[in-house]
Amino acid sequence: MIAQVIIDSNVKTLNKTFDYRVPTEMENEAKVGARVFVPFGNLKTLKEGYIIGFKKESEYKVKDIAKFDKGDIPENRVELAVLMARRYFCNISDCMKLMLPPGAIGNRVKEKIGEFVYLKKDIEEIEDDIEEKVIKSPKQIRCLQMLYENEGIHVLDLEALTDTNRAVINTLVKKDYIEIAQQRIERNPFEFKEVPRDKKKKLTDEQQLAYDTISKSIDENRFEQFLLYGVTGSGKTEIYLQLIEKVIKQGKRAMMLVPEISLTPQMIDRFLARFGDCISVLHSKLSNGERFDQWEKINEGKAKIVIGARSAVFAPVDNLGIVILDEEHDSSYKSTDINPRYNAKDIAFYLAKQNKIPFVLGSATPDVNTFYKAKQGKITLLTLKHRANNASLPKVHVVDLRNELISGNKSMISDLLHTKIEENLKNKKQTILFLNRRGYSTFVMCRNCGFTAKCKNCNITLTYHRDENKLKCHYCGFETHNITECPACKSKNVRYFGSGTQKLEEEIHKMFPEASTIRMDIDTVTRKNSHEKILNDFKEKNIDILIGTQMVVKGHHFPKVTLVGVIAADSSLNIEDYRASERTFQILTQVAGRAGREELPGEVVIQTYNPDHFSIEYSKEQNYDLFYNAEISLRQRLKYPPFCDIILLGLSGKNENSVKIAAEKLGFLLNKHNSSSYYVSRPIPSPINKIKNRYRFRIILKCNFSSSIINKMNEVLEEYYKGSPNGVSIYVDVNPSNMM
Ligand code: ADP
Ligand code: ZN
Ligand code: ZN
Repeated sequence: MIAQVIIDSNVKTLNKTFDYRVPTEMENEAKVGARVFVPFGNLKTLKEGYIIGFKKESEYKVKDIAKFDKGDIPENRVELAVLMARRYFCNISDCMKLMLPPGAIGNRVKEKIGEFVYLKKDIEEIEDDIEEKVIKSPKQIRCLQMLYENEGIHVLDLEALTDTNRAVINTLVKKDYIEIAQQRIERNPFEFKEVPRDKKKKLTDEQQLAYDTISKSIDENRFEQFLLYGVTGSGKTEIYLQLIEKVIKQGKRAMMLVPEISLTPQMIDRFLARFGDCISVLHSKLSNGERFDQWEKINEGKAKIVIGARSAVFAPVDNLGIVILDEEHDSSYKSTDINPRYNAKDIAFYLAKQNKIPFVLGSATPDVNTFYKAKQGKITLLTLKHRANNASLPKVHVVDLRNELISGNKSMISDLLHTKIEENLKNKKQTILFLNRRGYSTFVMCRNCGFTAKCKNCNITLTYHRDENKLKCHYCGFETHNITECPACKSKNVRYFGSGTQKLEEEIHKMFPEASTIRMDIDTVTRKNSHEKILNDFKEKNIDILIGTQMVVKGHHFPKVTLVGVIAADSSLNIEDYRASERTFQILTQVAGRAGREELPGEVVIQTYNPDHFSIEYSKEQNYDLFYNAEISLRQRLKYPPFCDIILLGLSGKNENSVKIAAEKLGFLLNKHNSSSYYVSRPIPSPINKIKNRYRFRIILKCNFSSSIINKMNEVLEEYYKGSPNGVSIYVDVNPSNMM
């Protein structure tokens, strides 16, 4: 038998199968998805690889597979990996890695084994022995009696609860009263959680209609894609919970995808409260061991619901009954930094289609592309217009910052926002202030000669962090001492510009010395759980003001927050990306949705230099439909998605000239193969043309992403790799979430 093996490597020219003979004694282990070690080339050590197919004979002289490894990949996931490699223009082995159980490569995670105690005799028999003084030791008796109701207890717990020790237990084992079994211990991230159970709510008419429509596709075992478009607080999550309940009752399982940042304890509690611990949660804060166990829980079928961020879409859930992807507009579903640069939405779509089940997308501010498909009838649109608990939507004020300057207010807080914060403090209500820039000042410049402090590795200005009195690069982490004298002209006239969350917190303290504040940004959220801790402290300790970046925007539910202030709505408007307006509208609507979620009415103050921009105007009215209409006609005019797809080809390397030459070569090949099926830009330096000492160039393609484009691009890339210059790496990003 000949196995077709993919070698674990990101070298582009090795992205093909190699034939190996399966030794007869290993034939029972050989299957598609098996992991193997094989001799390769002249290498002294064995290479890791994956079997992706078999054939009877090989036209080559082949070597033997050396040995098999643990951790097979299911066959349908191998198929997916092969598809993904073509679609995302990377190596199959890059995709296979996503399907492996956690800790399967590098530092391997093992099962955690514990010793658990069981009775070997009937209780009556033991009681007789106690009465007849066959057993006399009070310690032994205590142990046995403890086990009457607690069989399967951990040895250490038994010792602690009965105040005995291992010797006592060993004696009982020797006397054949009890036995110790070695069992796997689940490292359970919810171990210390006690969540009271809650019952399902009676759905409102709107909710019921949405539920019934999706239910139908479950009942008919049919793929259908839905967009649940409902204002914040309209009860989307309640619908998910009830759909999942239905699916579980049918003996199937559910996949619930959420943005990483929404995986808050509050969110997990809602699932625990409804379903108990038959859930498995996958996110980046889990230890490797915890993740491994969550994965096992899924594999063994103990988890009926998988809740997780982007990569949870690869969890080995079989017998799926529904796939739900909440906050579907969120950019974190797109992988950006490493291959494969996949979109979890595409993978979820694929899974739902294969399993013939509903795929539900949810959002208050849908991705313009998704809404366009819904309007075209490719996705079934389900609308929730009202908040479920009858809370009203907050009142939004827009403040024109140009007028503040004219009237002499140079602080970060407008007069209106100042008044509202003051009132809120007086009424003992909570406030959230949102500013999407961390640090103290966003750049440092010499007033005398115009010198700006830049990172030595990246073409990026450095951000001043007052806490540590340092200048930091937010791209590569480089940091250096703060400067008070210009390195170029020695002038002392060095000034700080742009304001971040640290400065905002300082200004708030000056303005409202009595107010308590807490800050949430990457600088304060570092240790495990500290993101949770900040949110909990804000809620439980009744802190007056939460100041934060993007992190404060999503999904949280704070009943006492009645005021939300957006310090600089323009920061996301000025980025060089065709989605700048969309992002701004989404952020403003989401952050506004944090105010007044229960009985207390909410207010929002948006500060901006562009009050007339449509994304700000319509977020004031919280009217997605108007925003969508304006945005979609712009996209059509400028030919941006959904009217085309964008493929970004990025090249980088340490030598600027080699990168440029490589980019020109790639551009040439793209043009050579083009039969007007796509538009190719000239190769130009990327907007940030140097990151981590690597120079960056890019080519942008506009096309209709189809299988013929996939084929053509793969051909072009193959030709490029053949004579590809050394020291230049290349990546391909289909519909990138970030154009920088
Ligand atoms: P969304 O996911 O759309 O933001 P949620 O499902 O979180 O909305 O619902 C918002 C609030 O309304 C929650 O406190 C939830 O418990 C409550 N809620 C949802 N559906 C109902 C219902 N049918 N009856 C009463 N309260 C509901
Ligand atoms: Zn200077
Ligand atoms: Zn840097």
